[in-house]
Order: sequence, then C-alpha cells, then structure tokens
Amino acid sequence: MAAVPEADDCGERTCVDGVDLEALARRLGTPLHVYSASRLRRRAAELRAALAGLDALVCYAVKANPNVAVLALMADEGFGADIVSAGELRRSLCAGIASSRIVFSGVGKTADEIAEALAAGIGRFNVESRDELDLLQRVARDRGQVAHASVRVNPDVDAGTHAKIATGKAENKFGVEPNEAWQWFAEHAHRPNVVLDGLHVHIGSQVLELAPFARAFERIAVLARDLLAAGHAIACIDAGGGLGVRYRESHDVPVDVGDYARTLRHALRGFGGRLIVEPGRWLVAEAGVLLTRVIRVKHGARRRFLVLDAAMNDLQRPSLYDAWHAIEPLHGRERERVVYDVVGPVCETGDTFARARELPRCEEGDLVMIETTGAYGASMASTYNSRPLAAEAMVERGRYAVVRRRQHFDEMLAGEQPAGDWQVA
Ligand SMILES: *Cc1c(COP(=O)(O)O)cnc(C)c1O
Repeated sequence: MAAVPEADDCGERTCVDGVDLEALARRLGTPLHVYSASRLRRRAAELRAALAGLDALVCYAVKANPNVAVLALMADEGFGADIVSAGELRRSLCAGIASSRIVFSGVGKTADEIAEALAAGIGRFNVESRDELDLLQRVARDRGQVAHASVRVNPDVDAGTHAKIATGKAENKFGVEPNEAWQWFAEHAHRPNVVLDGLHVHIGSQVLELAPFARAFERIAVLARDLLAAGHAIACIDAGGGLGVRYRESHDVPVDVGDYARTLRHALRGFGGRLIVEPGRWLVAEAGVLLTRVIRVKHGARRRFLVLDAAMNDLQRPSLYDAWHAIEPLHGRERERVVYDVVGPVCETGDTFARARELPRCEEGDLVMIETTGAYGASMASTYNSRPLAAEAMVERGRYAVVRRRQHFDEMLAGEQPAGDWQVA
C-alpha cells in the first residue's frame, strides 16, 4: 500500500487527517468522536509489515472501538475480529469481516451466543473454563457441527499495567492453568464435536514493556512444544492483544511493534502453525480525538473548573482508570496559561478528565480536544445523566463522513414505558 499523505498541518487551524476540527464541530456539533482513517491504515500497515513472512492473522479486538466504519476499515485491511459477545459478532459480520477470521473470547459465553457463533461459522473459540468447553461440545453436537477451539491459558504473568486491565495473573478470572489445559487435551476423545488444537494467551491491556509479553509467549511456546511432543495437535497459537500506546508524551513509552513481533517470532521459532494476534487499543487509540466545547469556566472557592460539554459518559477512562489524556484547546495558544480541573457536566465528582492541568486560558464556547480517545472511548459510552450518545465521524485526507449520528432523545427513550401493563410471572 502506498504511504497515505496525512495533512495534520493546516497552518493556524487544528486539523486531523486534513479536516479542520473547528469547521467539523460547526457542522456536526459537540461532543464528537473523530477518527482518522489514515492513522488507522498506517497502524494496520505497520503491524502487517512487522508480521511479514509469518502465517499470521490479525484479529482486531472489536471492544476497543466497535464502530462499523472502523470494523469495515479493518476488514478492508484483511483483518479478522476478536469478539466477546453476540453483539460484537453481529457488528463484525455487518462490517464485512469474514466469519472464518473471527475468534470468540471471554469468560461468560452463553449457549445462545455459542450457537449463534457456530451458525455464523466463526473460525475459533478461545475457551476459558471446562464448563464452557463442555457447553461448546453440547451446542456443537446439537447443531451437528464441529467447533475449533483454543485453550486460554493464564500464564501467571504480571503485565505491569493498571489492576483493572491486567488479565494474566493467576488471581484474575481469565484462562486456566497449564495443568488444566493438559487435562482438556488428554480428554479430547470425550468431546468429538470440539477440535481442541490451539493455545491462547492475553495478559492485559496498555502493556508498555516487552518483558511480560516475552514471559507469556515463552510459557505458551513451552506448553505448545510439550503438547506437540505428547502427540497433541497445535494448529494455532493466539498471542492476544495488549500493546500499549502513548497517552502522555515522554511518560508512556510504547513497545515498538517491530520488537513485539521479534519477541513473538523468537518465542515461537520452530512452531509451524498459524499465529493470531488480537490488538485493539494499539490499532485505534491514537487515531481518535474527542472534540468538545467549553460550556463555562467556574471559579470555585479553591479551584478553577473548566466545564466541557463532554463527560464521563462519552469517555470513561479517566474516571474508571484514573487515565491521563492530553487536553488541547484548539485556539488561544498564545493566551496566558491557567490551571484548571477539567470536568464534564455529569453529577459525579469522578466526572473529571484532568486535575490541576495547565492550559491556555479558556472561555465559554472554545473548542477543546481530548486526545488518544480512539480506543475504549465511544465503545464504553453510556447515556448516564440521560445524555445522548455522542456523534462519531471518520476523517480522511480532507474529507469527513458521519459514522454514527448523534443519538436522538426518542432513541434514548425507545423501549421504555410507564408500568401500565402489569403481568404475573
Ligand atoms: C481486550 C482484549 C484484547 C485487546 O486488548 P488491547 O489492549 O485493546 O489490545 C485482545 N484479546 C482479548 C481476549 C481481550 O479481552
């Protein structure tokens, strides 16, 4: 693919992918999630280049950003999807992702979800418990199908990330111990409708060091070698996602994707099967900004509050994980610098994007962008405080497309009604 020119330099204006954010805000209103297609494509190309020569499939982790336009772009890049619900399955199929390139992860798959995924013909289930494995066997047998499955192994590795997004420690709910994986392989004859021929590992999210990946991959590689030596088939190793991104300049130093791929190649040298990787955040986070307008500046007794029209319902990461996001007013950079607590209108103290952040002085009506919001931004949005879901736009080389229009109030209310129709259960 040719390098995509990306005109972020618009002179006085602030542009993303050649689109002036001020003009975009005037047209589409705020709060507005903006995704750069060029940046998404560049990440996809970088990952593909890093994995070149391997029999590798990229299954984009849908939960990071499930907008159908993002999924369609991933499909266009030849990627599959890592899903964790029937809803994500439907989105992926709608967006044109081939069902054979879909893998299904998560500890709580229900019988209905498994049946739906089997009916769609997905490529593989990443199984997280014996109970789930038995359920997969029953549902597949009832449907007269054979399911391909990988064991999600918990490698007991500390990913060095925020506790709420670490998944690879023995105390976490994810995966099973290697001993249990051995038992499942040994019992394969009891489950004729499940071809158990893969290993899966995913240690957590926003991982900024290579060492935890290396430890997890080595553990999986050793397990794969031992299982193969014992006569079991291992057709597929899924290395999960978790690659971190730079939220904060000179503070977060992400792993280089080339080094990540080299670590993977080194750990899996000699393995002849298929490799799957499931990045979410790394592909989409840095492609997104949340565009928002200043409602007012409130001077409290002790602090000065910059009240934005975006809130924790539009971007939950700061309130959920104490996450740091760069906040950048679109104009007035020559103005004096002032310290603000940057907050939304939601009635929660946790509705705070930043505390004591120094910014150029802001006034009512100013536009502000919150950066690196392409992952776990809109995907975690809610209508808390009865705030409609924000609009989402994709931009590419000077043009924009609305990829989710702002939610209408009647849509928010749809399905609700006063309790008039009382029934006996
Ligand atoms: C969330 C998740 C991912 C993606 O994680 P990122 O940190 O966004 O790359 C991949 N695989 C599984 C099983 C997940 O749960």
